[in-house]
Amino acid sequence: MSVDCGRSNVVLDAAAMFAGVELSYGPFYTTESVLREVIDGESRMRLELAQASRKLVVLSPPREYVELVRSKARELGVLGELTNADVEVLALASYVKRACGSSILYTDDRMVQNVALSLGVQVLGIKYAEKRRPTRYSYRCRVCGYRASAPGTCPRCGTLLELEPVR
Ligand SMILES: [Zn+2]
Repeated sequence: MSVDCGRSNVVLDAAAMFAGVELSYGPFYTTESVLREVIDGESRMRLELAQASRKLVVLSPPREYVELVRSKARELGVLGELTNADVEVLALASYVKRACGSSILYTDDRMVQNVALSLGVQVLGIKYAEKRRPTRYSYRCRVCGYRASAPGTCPRCGTLLELEPVR
């Protein structure tokens, strides 16, 4: 099964699934890892029905798009904030954009929205208004002001670093 641009260019991430997007409005695309993240006793039936009726199409993004997402996320300083499922669904959205000329990613996850915007993918929030433009982040020590590109503790004073937008 592959991308059918005539029917849909919309991708769902785990946050969208948890927010209860109405799957019958599909087809929607998603990845195996997102599916694994959302499957529980209650939603399994709903997901299986949606897949059987081709309202939910599970695809795995080509490797090169995964690499593209990683490098964009690194530029924005948020690679450490993304799960593998986040990276894969962003890669799929980027791939759909290449295949169809545009793509839409439904998600309420601000970090996922951030990277999607930098990839030229349109983002739509479900319960909350979506971000409009990407923001660069870095990790900062609140005590001494030390900045780092990866999460962890401050090498100067040992305080836990916090993610902050770069102004
Ligand atoms: Zn410090």
